[in-house]
Amino acid sequence: MSDLQPSAFSLQPAAPTSHSLWNRALRRIPGGVNSPVRAFRGVGGEPFFVNKAKGCTITDVDGSEYIDFVGTWGPAILGHAPQVVIDAVTETAKHGTSFGIPNPLEVEMAETICRMVPSVEKVRMTNSGTEAVMSAIRLARGFTGRDRIVKFEGCYHGHVDSLLVKAGSGALTLGQPDSAGIPSSLATLTSTVPFNDLEALQGVFQEKGSEIACVILEPVPANAGLYLPEPGYLEAIQKLCREHGALLIFDEVMTGFRLAPGGAQEIYGITPDLTTLGKVIGGGLPVGAFGGRAEIMDHLAPLGPVYQAGTLSGNPLALAAGLAQLKEMERTNGWALLESLGAQMEESVRSAIRGKPLTFHRIGSMFCLYFTEVPVRNLADAKKSDTAAFARHFHASLREGIYFAPSQFEAGFISTAHTPEDLKRATQALKAL
Ligand SMILES: *Cc1c(COP(=O)(O)O)cnc(C)c1O
Repeated sequence: MSDLQPSAFSLQPAAPTSHSLWNRALRRIPGGVNSPVRAFRGVGGEPFFVNKAKGCTITDVDGSEYIDFVGTWGPAILGHAPQVVIDAVTETAKHGTSFGIPNPLEVEMAETICRMVPSVEKVRMTNSGTEAVMSAIRLARGFTGRDRIVKFEGCYHGHVDSLLVKAGSGALTLGQPDSAGIPSSLATLTSTVPFNDLEALQGVFQEKGSEIACVILEPVPANAGLYLPEPGYLEAIQKLCREHGALLIFDEVMTGFRLAPGGAQEIYGITPDLTTLGKVIGGGLPVGAFGGRAEIMDHLAPLGPVYQAGTLSGNPLALAAGLAQLKEMERTNGWALLESLGAQMEESVRSAIRGKPLTFHRIGSMFCLYFTEVPVRNLADAKKSDTAAFARHFHASLREGIYFAPSQFEAGFISTAHTPEDLKRATQALKAL
């Protein structure tokens, strides 16, 4: 062989490892990540870099495979890269990726959302859950002519200025309940109360009822781990809102289309005035939506005085992905399968943790294991969890090829692609606790 013909092998640059990518990322991306919880600060160690995901499995650049219980933080309800979604995106892309002119998929998506979530009579698409919530808050203020909003400690609604007050998820993981850069004059317009504490909410309404534009909540809070509303609590919140002329906003960015076709509001039988959506409706592409009573939604521009817009809102690729995912869930009754998988997982977790100081919560395909025996009904209880023990269990699971969210204050997700064997494997590491 001549010197001028080096072997193909020597021409291949070494494939980057997670470790080398992490060092490069740290130099050019703040904290190495584009969203804080991904940095593993809640569990220690270095994150791995994924370049492939299929079904319930993710594969990192180092060639390790994991059974994934994060599902890209909720959207991957059919598992990763479901064929129906890949086909829909591929076909749609052949005709263009964005028009900035009305396209038929926008009508189909709006009709689909209104059919599945009956409290939504009209809906507008956005590019993220954060944007949906931000717009819904503005709309509530514009509609009521009031400035104050009420939220619950530990409920996360995206990184909206007035809602990053006692928020869950990343803000909690990093131990920064509030963010720098939010004017205190704005934050003073946000009242916060503990979840499942009706008296606290009654107190706020007594004092400031006539100023309150809206009460916003995750009907099933899933950004400080996962805990459930106590019986009658959601009804009581709605009653207070009605008595004082405040709007009730359900943030179902996480629970929408996941807990049931109509989200948590279907399960609990509550009709909110406005609903925010995201995650599952995007099929893994960047999408959010907000909708509700037509009378309220008609206050949006160009019909009304509340301005809201988006260059890429209603993007054909994103809507094709979301519609394909929702159709497949309906065609296969994915929710029934998820409930049965969830119940199986719950049974094996409960038997593995019997007698141990742990608390397990599950609703449908969402779950959380708290490292405390204290019953968890709000943020203050969730914070009693032993986060060091959580971190040890996270890393022990990772070594077994199981990927849970890298923070105590996140929910886990099951997809229709998980098998009973995958779920059994996931509970294996619990035995060592
Ligand atoms: C994820 C989430 C958001 C924010 O959505 P993004 O798409 O991350 O902006 C808002 N509310 C809830 C309940 C969420 O879980």
